[in-house]
Formats: sequence, structure tokens, C-alpha cells
Amino acid sequence: MSDCLFCKIAKGEIPCRKVYEDDDVLAFHDINPVAPVHFLLIPKPHLTSLAEAETHHAAMLGKLLLLAPKLAKEQGLSDGFRTVINTGRGGGQEVFHLHVHVIGGGNIPPMVKRN
Ligand code: 5GP
Ligand code: ZN
Repeated sequence: MSDCLFCKIAKGEIPCRKVYEDDDVLAFHDINPVAPVHFLLIPKPHLTSLAEAETHHAAMLGKLLLLAPKLAKEQGLSDGFRTVINTGRGGGQEVFHLHVHVIGGGNIPPMVKRN
């Protein structure tokens, strides 16, 4: 996807503060963090969202989820962290390239505010 922001970051066309990289995935700090540690994990090939994931994406999805605790620990989140995957406009997704948010290091509020 030539006009996708995270594809451009994955290709190195737009700079990021890298946390981790291999042939399949990239992790980088969120530009507008909501907590002291806030990074994003993305697959390098474009996938719009979790809603478009298919059976052949299983290994990639597993890799992202297994990397989350490893990288969180390396970023100092020994006490735990939150993972968030916003999916589609109804899920609050703003960048339409699948990404896992890893958030922690502060006072993490309840995930959804109850009235
Ligand atoms: P979403 O709302 O789609 O789940 O999250 C998109 C995230 O991408 C937001 O937390 C936003 O701050 C982050 N973001 C948007 N543009 C950029 C950028 O150019 N660089 C980085 N590092 N993060 C970005
Ligand atoms: Zn993309």
C-alpha cells in the first residue's frame, strides 16, 4: 500500500524510533504516547486490520503477540503492560495498517470508563 503511513515506516521511508525489527515485523515508539512506555508492533507486509486477518496470517499474529511481553520487559515494563488492537472505525482505529499497542509504565486507567 503505497500511501499507507505504517508501510512507509516499515520500509524506512519515514523515520521512527525503533524498538525491534526483523524480516517480518517492526516495533517502534508511538509518536504521541499515552503512557511513559507506548510502542507499536506491526507486520511489515500491509494488513489493514485484524478484521482482514486470514488463516495464513496466524504465524504473524502469534509472533506479534509473543514479542509483546518480550519487548515490554526490555522496555522496563516488568510489572505488566496493556496491549490494545483497535479495529476499524468502530474500534477507534486511525491508522489502517494492523498494529498492536503496548502501553505501560504509568497509572494505567481502567480500559473502558464505566458510567
Ligand atoms: P490507532 O488509533 O490506529 O490504533 O493508533 C494509531 C497510533 O499511531 C496512534 O497512537 C498515533 O499516535 C500513532 N501514530 C500516528 N502517526 C504516527 C507516526 O507518524 N509515527 C509514529 N511513531 N506513530 C504514529
Ligand atoms: Zn500498510
